[in-house]
Amino acid sequence: MQTSCRMALSRGLRCCQRVLSWVPVVIISSVVLWSYYAYVWELCLECSLSLSLAAVYLLIFHIVFFLFAWTYWKAIFTPPTQPTKKFLLPYAEKERYDSEERPEVQRQILAEFAKKLPVYTRTGSGAIRFCDRCQVVKPDRCHHCSVCGMCVLKMDHHCPWVNNCIGFSNYKFFLLFLAYAMLYCSYIASTVFKYFLLYWTAELTNNRAKFHVLFLLFVSLMFFISLMFLFGYHCWLVGVNRTTLEAFSAPVFPSGSDKNGFHLGIRKNLEQVFGKRKRLWLIPVFTSIGDGLSFPMRMVSESQNPLLGRGNQWDDEGTDDENPGSHESSHIILEMDT
Ligand SMILES: [Zn+2]
Ligand SMILES: [Zn+2]
Repeated sequence: MQTSCRMALSRGLRCCQRVLSWVPVVIISSVVLWSYYAYVWELCLECSLSLSLAAVYLLIFHIVFFLFAWTYWKAIFTPPTQPTKKFLLPYAEKERYDSEERPEVQRQILAEFAKKLPVYTRTGSGAIRFCDRCQVVKPDRCHHCSVCGMCVLKMDHHCPWVNNCIGFSNYKFFLLFLAYAMLYCSYIASTVFKYFLLYWTAELTNNRAKFHVLFLLFVSLMFFISLMFLFGYHCWLVGVNRTTLEAFSAPVFPSGSDKNGFHLGIRKNLEQVFGKRKRLWLIPVFTSIGDGLSFPMRMVSESQNPLLGRGNQWDDEGTDDENPGSHESSHIILEMDT
């Protein structure tokens, strides 16, 4: 009885948590909807703008608004990707692993299994990175998100403002969302400023419009400044090919920790996230290179690379089409392109 009560309680709590996690998204969406109404109705239609000026303002506004809303939608609703089945510890190994009490033997079991996987990064003590909760050997740059309750490929961070885990599948969308949000704010601030000045010279007689114009300027500037820092930080991360998690804790390779382990040069780093086709860089469609399971590394020599000696063995062990671009999974660039 007590157990079922506890289970019902924890289910209820989880449900509340899920509902509450949407609060930041609802807040942002409400502010955006209000800004749409305030700009289109109160500024362009109520502030006695000339017809041609209002038409130009509205046309540019709607293009920027559309791009911003599209990227926000993609950042929210593109699910993070998990490691594929070949990273899952098989039943026999799992039995051995669970029944074994000696940590060094457990490490050995994982090391044996991981030999056929494209994993290079290790724990701080040099062991294979393993997630007890998901029972998977973690691919390089993969981390377990305690909010989502799963391992996420190339996890960057869990973002409450989009209520989603930002990782391999949606990092480009997140960056574009930040960029277009800044563009949206700066466009509003720059076009509203003139009418904000009129507010003080009493040339704007509509009191309701005055209120909206005033708040449009303050809110857009406030968001622009906060986004500028976040976007600047992520631009730097993309430039050095690091995730937010890796910026705080450098990945550990068999040769030791190296915060620049995935740094391939700025052009290649950009291509990793945005793809090779430049005309698609600013469009929120998935163009990132690779499969999120293995990544080109800076200084992997052929002798250190277990994949080359075994003819991409993991590819022979069943296919898994869950990940976009999985046909590119086995590419490993060996030298940094400077
Ligand atoms: Zn996990
Ligand atoms: Zn998450």
